[in-house]
Amino acid sequence: MLKKSFLGLANSRIEYELLPVKMPEPEKVPPSKTVTLFHPKSGDQSAAPAFQTGDRVRTGQKLALFADEPAYVISSVTGTISSISPYSGNFGKTYSAITITVDENEELEDPFENQTPDLETAIAHLAFLPGNPAYSVLADPEKTIHTIVIAGVDDDLLIGTNQYIVSYALGDIKKGIGILKEIAGVDRIVLVTAGESMQGYGHIGAEVKGVGIGYPAALPQLIMKDVLGEVVPAGRTCEDMGVCFLSAEAVASIGKAYANGQIPVSKILTLVTKDGTQRLIKTPIGTPIRDILDKFNVSINEEDRIILGGPMRGAAIYSLDHPVLPDTNGIVVLDRSDAAYASDYPCINCGDCVRACPARIQVHMLVRFLEAGQFEEAADNYDLLSCIECGICSFVCVSRIPILQYIKLAKYELDRASASEAKELLEATEAMEATEATDA
Ligand code: SF4
Ligand code: SF4
Repeated sequence: MLKKSFLGLANSRIEYELLPVKMPEPEKVPPSKTVTLFHPKSGDQSAAPAFQTGDRVRTGQKLALFADEPAYVISSVTGTISSISPYSGNFGKTYSAITITVDENEELEDPFENQTPDLETAIAHLAFLPGNPAYSVLADPEKTIHTIVIAGVDDDLLIGTNQYIVSYALGDIKKGIGILKEIAGVDRIVLVTAGESMQGYGHIGAEVKGVGIGYPAALPQLIMKDVLGEVVPAGRTCEDMGVCFLSAEAVASIGKAYANGQIPVSKILTLVTKDGTQRLIKTPIGTPIRDILDKFNVSINEEDRIILGGPMRGAAIYSLDHPVLPDTNGIVVLDRSDAAYASDYPCINCGDCVRACPARIQVHMLVRFLEAGQFEEAADNYDLLSCIECGICSFVCVSRIPILQYIKLAKYELDRASASEAKELLEATEAMEATEATDA
């Protein structure tokens, strides 16, 4: 069985773009009529609904679908709930899409003040913040987190959202770091910035380390290796190794919530339009992508592509009504002439993907098993689980094989199979214990 470590990661020639030292304020984009919030389904779906269409909501109000349901969203506007409908996301994720028609007169939810900085409060009130903080990792009894890494560089090309936050919201990050130390009981916090921009942050209560600007140096597994000096073995996660990653925006949002007594509801993101222009914008979570494109007169023609995230790792969306999510750091609009469409051409064994892969995976062999749906063989024999999902192989593939998409699908299917096996095992054990108890 081949199990690669990342010690042999190769250098890349593609580079992250550093933001200029002086940046204009992000341009504000208010939603024109509605926002839509994706509420993750959880808890007892047969319980009485906590709200319904026609109900009024305030900016910053917590919305759980059912009484006592742990999952919730935070309304980013004041208005009236106009619809609640099921929505299927990627890889089997299901949501309830809550659409709110926006009122002109904003009313703010009661202040988030005098709240204790503890994990329970953060999970109960601050889970839907811009930057999508991952408290579940901090609360997982099976994980012992000893280090929090704050990513001050976005993990994809052309996207400058977290670089901007580090440059212009350092006070909020500093406050967030103090809160994180209290709520997570973690002393070691490391702020990772783009290599050349790490001066002047000594006062914020965290170690400050730079990463190289060669893509994909800002991906978590590479930060683990290059910054923390720890190798994540294949099939394990950074969290398994005791390291939790949070974005700079998430930490700034935590700091801002405690400092201002209001839960932040607006997202900073980078918009890249067809001509390559990059803009930082600020918009309420849930704003339809259509409103953002309309604001900047971006016309969309048939077969143009809209990508949420960045060009290497992002995912295409198929409706302009798709909303901005708490973790939407970028929107990239590609003209159809620039979009690399996937094809069903076979691999021609050119070897470009193998030479480019930073994890030194035999991608041309891996892809044969993925195309055949032989995911276990791909994991056992061709290092599927060593892949860091950088997308470079898809980028260089002359046959336009959607390799990264195959890899994500394969990992999802393997996770699903192993969760199903674990469930069956648990049910069998419980049945056996029940039989033994009856016999006794
Ligand atoms: S996405 Fe492709 S290039 Fe990147 S690590 Fe995985 S196999 Fe290698
Ligand atoms: S780049 Fe594409 S065509 Fe070339 S070896 Fe890799 S998978 Fe095959």
